[in-house]
Amino acid sequence: MSSSQSHGPDQHTERAELIIAAAHRAAAYVAAAPERGVFPEEEALRGLDRFPRDLGDKGLGAAEAVAMLDELGSPATVASTGGRYFGFVTGGTDPAASAASVLLSAWDQNLALPVMSPVAAMLDELASRWCRELLGLPESAVVTFCSGASIANLTCLVAARDALLHRAGWNVEERGLAGAPRLRVVASAEIHASVSKALRAAGIGTDQIESAPTDECGRVAVDRFPTVDGLTLVLLQAGNVNTGHSDPFSEIIPMARREGAWVHVDGAFGLWAGASEARRHLVGGVELADSWATDAHKWLNASYDSGIAVCRDPEDLRRAMSFDAAYLAGDAERAAAHLGLQMSQRARGAEVWAILTSLGRNGVAELVDRCCRLAEQMAGLLEAAGARLLVPPALNQVLVQFDDDATTDAVIAAVQSDRTCWAGGTVWQGRRAMRISVSDAATDADDIASSAEAIVRCWRRIAAEGGGSADA
Ligand SMILES: *Cc1c(COP(=O)(O)O)cnc(C)c1O
Repeated sequence: MSSSQSHGPDQHTERAELIIAAAHRAAAYVAAAPERGVFPEEEALRGLDRFPRDLGDKGLGAAEAVAMLDELGSPATVASTGGRYFGFVTGGTDPAASAASVLLSAWDQNLALPVMSPVAAMLDELASRWCRELLGLPESAVVTFCSGASIANLTCLVAARDALLHRAGWNVEERGLAGAPRLRVVASAEIHASVSKALRAAGIGTDQIESAPTDECGRVAVDRFPTVDGLTLVLLQAGNVNTGHSDPFSEIIPMARREGAWVHVDGAFGLWAGASEARRHLVGGVELADSWATDAHKWLNASYDSGIAVCRDPEDLRRAMSFDAAYLAGDAERAAAHLGLQMSQRARGAEVWAILTSLGRNGVAELVDRCCRLAEQMAGLLEAAGARLLVPPALNQVLVQFDDDATTDAVIAAVQSDRTCWAGGTVWQGRRAMRISVSDAATDADDIASSAEAIVRCWRRIAAEGGGSADA
């Protein structure tokens, strides 16, 4: 091989040393994470000013770039991997995922076509099959990785739109949407903002959306669900982003599909309840849908970004996503570029493979169960201290109010600057609430206890100062 002549051994040694140095820095970062304030200290944020603002003519070199990233950047990160970050539904990082990603970034494989990386293609296929099995989805279904649930939703909605129009005799690839039969969209009133955005991108306007009323937990109300037909796209969800509750799939999906509608489920985190025997009933019937979107970077603790799109009939996905280009042709059964919006893409499936190989079926179930138990522990501790749970906790989500709206806002702000843990705010049915999402595999019972203690401590202080109105 001639490569060692064009790239001398020195260059390889230097590169290896850089990788090792970066790995040491990453290891030190991980070791310090549990001890750090969850939100960066003011001083660390001021340190961001020390990043040079102008791109110099002369490069500083890789070692200096990585050193700067670590020395100025690391202290300013949000410690979402240390066990006490409860914001949004931000997963931590599984140890196998973060270690494998060091190797995967050295591999730098492009998953677009199997011929570009046989190993990435094979690991992608294994991970996709294992995810389908863990989530309890139909054997016929095709599973493909993408950047997150937003893109997974978009991918599925485009497949659904095209399939419905095809069934109505309209060739959407040739004729586009102009003049096409009008699709109806019946969406849960609680549908996630990313689904509304995906509809827009798929050429479906808000005027086309009929809202299906929901109950006090955010679930679609069966008795008030509109009638649907063969030109209807039905949008449900597994795991409401505020409450964790899921729609009554067993009751709605068979009825909608009997009429010829397409049912898509956004299950960004909630779909993972299917991986646990003890929680599977909470998303019972979800497997009856036509398509599903979920995330690997939330509950499965893959590193950002990693989402999963699933389509019951692979032909529906292929029709919408495949393309013609002589140099990209291939007769491979499974080519990622023909199953999603991206052409070039990193080997996300390989990282998911590493997580699943590390945890096994029982480990994934245990991850889901543990987060649910810890969320219940958090809810119990806060309720015992006198806080009000706005809905019965479901899955890994807790929604809690402290005295009133103003006090709740003040407690959220105080908790965020206390830095023991981090939780955000929301509005649930007109009331301000703290949202607590337990999605980090690193979280344990001590993290929950110390975080609950910090939240209650902040609340007592605010109450002693006369509540939120006096303070905020
Ligand atoms: C997070 C989330 C999304 C969006 O997922 P991204 O991975 O951020 O694109 C969609 N739906 C629900 C219910 C979510 O929780």
